[in-house]
Amino acid sequence: MERRSLVVGNWKMHGTVTFARELAREVAFGSRSLANVEVAICPSHLLLSSAAAELVGSDVKLGAQAVSEFLEGAYTGETSASMLNEVGCRFAIVGHSERRHMFGETSDAVAAKATAALDAGITPIICVGEVLEERQSGATHAVVAGQLRPFTNGKGGDVLRSAVIAYEPVWAIGTGETAAPEQAQDVHQFIRSSIEEVDPITSDGIRILYGGSVKPDNAANLFRMPDIDGGLVGGASLKADDFLRICGSASRR
Ligand code: PEP
Repeated sequence: MERRSLVVGNWKMHGTVTFARELAREVAFGSRSLANVEVAICPSHLLLSSAAAELVGSDVKLGAQAVSEFLEGAYTGETSASMLNEVGCRFAIVGHSERRHMFGETSDAVAAKATAALDAGITPIICVGEVLEERQSGATHAVVAGQLRPFTNGKGGDVLRSAVIAYEPVWAIGTGETAAPEQAQDVHQFIRSSIEEVDPITSDGIRILYGGSVKPDNAANLFRMPDIDGGLVGGASLKADDFLRICGSASRR
């Protein structure tokens, strides 16, 4: 099955309203010349509306960096999926390693968030990935399988059917150290085959993004791999030129 490339910029907790407007405008403008690639940007929640205004009339989609698993109520500081939908979000990142490791998000909570997003019409981008010690001890596949289990155990299959996965080795996020294309491909293939065991149709169609220090000069080699369908880009998504060059690499995939 033909899978359309997807490149998502994760702005993390960076920027101001002015910065978000300018960057969103530049990405919207620059992406007009890109073909065969879907592009999304994920500003912090407070900047979503400002960025959304600049994306009107553009194919660039808006995404959130996190979402509550709860529909509404007394959950101080949380943002519901329906609120994100209302400001124009089409994607929501769930289970980013920074949220798993710094804010204690468990794989079950990640699954609940993905379900809440989907129920509100938002495509969840489910992040998985191992820390350095886990890679060094040969536990990468087991760790990733564990993080995917709430989706592959027979209960979460519906979610996977409409989700995107991002494989992000934690040791490569924000460190400047990228997984070698073959190293990333190995895990992407493992993820696809794990999904195939429970749902062959979904495994063929699901997009699996790579994340971890993707830059303009390494993107093409990563995106050339057969099971890498695009990227989740942190640092390099804060500069329109770099981000658009990465998107351009995915469009030639
Ligand atoms: C990320 O935040 O998801 C990420 C991959 O960051 P960076 O590209 O900066 O490594």
